Amino acid sequence: TALPRYRGRFAPSPTGALHFGSLVAAVGSWLVARHAEGQWLVRIEDIDPPREVPGSAATILATLDAFGLSPDQPPVYQSQRQEAYAAAFEGLRESGQVFPCWCSRSDLASQGGIHRDGHCVAAADPSRPHAWRVRAPDLSLHWEDDLQGAQSENLREMAGDFVIRRVEGLWSYQLACVVDDADQGITHVVRGADLLDSTARQIHLQRLLALPTPGYLHLPLVLDAEGRKLSKSTAALPVDAADPLPALRAALDRLGVLSPSTAGTPETLLRDALHGFAPASLRRSSLGATATL
Ligand code: GLU
Repeated sequence: TALPRYRGRFAPSPTGALHFGSLVAAVGSWLVARHAEGQWLVRIEDIDPPREVPGSAATILATLDAFGLSPDQPPVYQSQRQEAYAAAFEGLRESGQVFPCWCSRSDLASQGGIHRDGHCVAAADPSRPHAWRVRAPDLSLHWEDDLQGAQSENLREMAGDFVIRRVEGLWSYQLACVVDDADQGITHVVRGADLLDSTARQIHLQRLLALPTPGYLHLPLVLDAEGRKLSKSTAALPVDAADPLPALRAALDRLGVLSPSTAGTPETLLRDALHGFAPASLRRSSLGATATL
């Protein structure tokens, strides 16, 4: 069967209830996918047990449902995808792209916390657990963000040799995200601008693993009144699944999308918002003109 022309996704981490910033990413990715007459999937990024809040994956899914955001396929759980990550890692290891690393934060402090040597600079100590890093090439990656425009990043300068398997044995977000986007056939990634600086690392991994690079669109960040990133860690309020319309209107407004209906259900509000929607109308600025709640 032919792959769909457009397949997008929303990939929340179950570290708490769905907050407003995540709702904006969910609605934004949904709108762009539906506008393209594409599919929209949900992936639960539960690869970091220490940060996980028990029950929050179910809460997030129920909240999406209450907001009329229903995925076209059952959600994928990263906790069930360990073998796929291990296989990708083995491929990288066989081709000599990764190296074991015992460096601590203090080993890297003199380099601004960035590892740029292409090999571990700490003393190897087989008795201690170690991380695995991917070697960052000294080259500029260029890509076009569908909202933020032309991007370029020198991986070695900006990210350095990056961790793909943590000391605790956990897979990194970068590796899991790239493997899953490819396995789920994602053609377009729409997500918050806080992930803009992960994109070069992900494109690099896609090239190493011979995976396709999807399109990228990074939505403006939602900041709170003090200009801090709105996240679970900055006292962001969860959205109320029992009363979705106010938060849904605010999310659409935040995205610069008109929603003419005055009453109705989340579904009718979304349908009205989709009518006349174009991705180009999404608000662009990620730094200067950040809206506050
Ligand atoms: N799980 C990530 C987060 O909640 C999003 C990953 C992505 O969209 O690529 O920040």
